[in-house]
Amino acid sequence: MTMGKERMHHSFGRWTLGQLANWLNVILPAEWQAQADLAISQMVTDSRAVKPGDVYIAIEGTRFDGHRFIAQAIEQGAVACIVSNKQYAKQSVPCLIVADTTRALGRLGQAHRQAAKLECLVAVTGSNGKTTVKELLAALFATQGPTLATRGNFNNQFGVPRTLLELTDEHRYAVIEMGANHQGEIDCLTRLAEPDIAIITLAAPAHLEGFGSLDGIITAKGEIMHGLKPNGVGIINTDSPGFDQWQAKLARSDRKMICFGQAASADIRIRQVTTEKNGIRFELYYQQAWHQVVSPLLGAHNAYNLAVGAAVAQVMGWSWDVVAPVFESFTGTDGRLQTFQVGAMTLIDDSYNANPSSMAAGLDSLHALASTDQRPMIACLGTMAELGTTAPEAHYQIGRQAVQLGVQQLWAQGPNAQDYVAGFKSLSRSKTLAEVADHATMIDQLVTLYHTGEPWVVLIKGSRSAAMDQLRSGLTERV
Ligand code: ATP
Ligand code: MG
Repeated sequence: MTMGKERMHHSFGRWTLGQLANWLNVILPAEWQAQADLAISQMVTDSRAVKPGDVYIAIEGTRFDGHRFIAQAIEQGAVACIVSNKQYAKQSVPCLIVADTTRALGRLGQAHRQAAKLECLVAVTGSNGKTTVKELLAALFATQGPTLATRGNFNNQFGVPRTLLELTDEHRYAVIEMGANHQGEIDCLTRLAEPDIAIITLAAPAHLEGFGSLDGIITAKGEIMHGLKPNGVGIINTDSPGFDQWQAKLARSDRKMICFGQAASADIRIRQVTTEKNGIRFELYYQQAWHQVVSPLLGAHNAYNLAVGAAVAQVMGWSWDVVAPVFESFTGTDGRLQTFQVGAMTLIDDSYNANPSSMAAGLDSLHALASTDQRPMIACLGTMAELGTTAPEAHYQIGRQAVQLGVQQLWAQGPNAQDYVAGFKSLSRSKTLAEVADHATMIDQLVTLYHTGEPWVVLIKGSRSAAMDQLRSGLTERV
């Protein structure tokens, strides 16, 4: 995530400069002692977003040093600054000097969260499904009272504290997404948020470059339990690699556990998951009884995401009557396996992101949707990024899987596109096509197909960096 242009929406000026200094454990410089009661309205890290009454926090990023924009922030009305470089400490407004401004932002988010009166804060991590689960939980909690949830994908060392700083006296619940590329990041984030419920959706080979191995990923996801409140509950997946480690970890720290999955031992069990044209159907064991679930979410993996929702609901003690309507109406988030119709064509927009397991899930959904009416299938695939040395083989295997599912055409784009194509060609028969094409070519080809009136089903998917969402927008602009 970049620092973003958005302001933190903190509606009331409840903070004072003295309070921030206190939270950061710094002493207000002598010449500014009289300013201790100065009211602060927002804490802002993007100088362009500063408004009168705000505190500007100068973050040293990889590309920019926020200290360079202090003058601009003050000009826009910043009433104080938080800096780590002493050279910038002499300003026309008070400056608090800290060792590390990113950590200071974290500390402020943490202190604000500690001061908030929440009934429940939930933290979500995992290799896939975080945002889907976060949105689902936000929808569930919203039926009970005012709920704050991470906006978009603001799930890192900037996004998490910024989200925490948005808590107001109104909020009763909060759902916080936590992502990581390296060991130790989730540990930091969970200690800021101090969750009452901590969830690991699953561990899968994503961001392998930063973690080294699946074991590294398992350990890193397990870190979310470190911030769990003493009476908190950990929610884990019986069918995920790492389950045993997480279970042992929760037992060692004497935390309660709820597990979900297909295993007979799961507290929240799912079984008989079937994918249908307009969603999924499965049976779910909740509060000691089996329930039929019909959900408009595509993809069998979403049965797991819904099971997480049920696990949280069970911790909260909500009846099935609270859960069922949300399950029936929740349609997911943009770019995550959403279908839309363009003429006779159906597009499955799963362009938000990809890794090998979610790519396999995306192909399964393509197949499930197309096979009921025997419609022809195209996979428009962008690179799966951050796979390190496993990248060529991973792309090759996806190409093979596409053929095995009966996909007629594979269009591939970006680094490792050749490997998708090679995998496809290793198995493909006549009347199939696999090629490398760029965004513009893919859009041209989709426009052409649209005009044929043929009922193609098209999966659009790749890592964020592949920007496969451009296909959806490019096509809809032209038809
Ligand atoms: P990111 O790391 O980019 O923030 P995320 O963990 O928030 O991703 P989502 O945005 O919810 O995940 O989903 C991304 C994709 O992962 C979906 O489009 C889907 O293909 C796949 N996916 C979602 N949930 C699961 C799951 N439980 N198991 C496997 N794959 C999943
Ligand atoms: Mg996400």
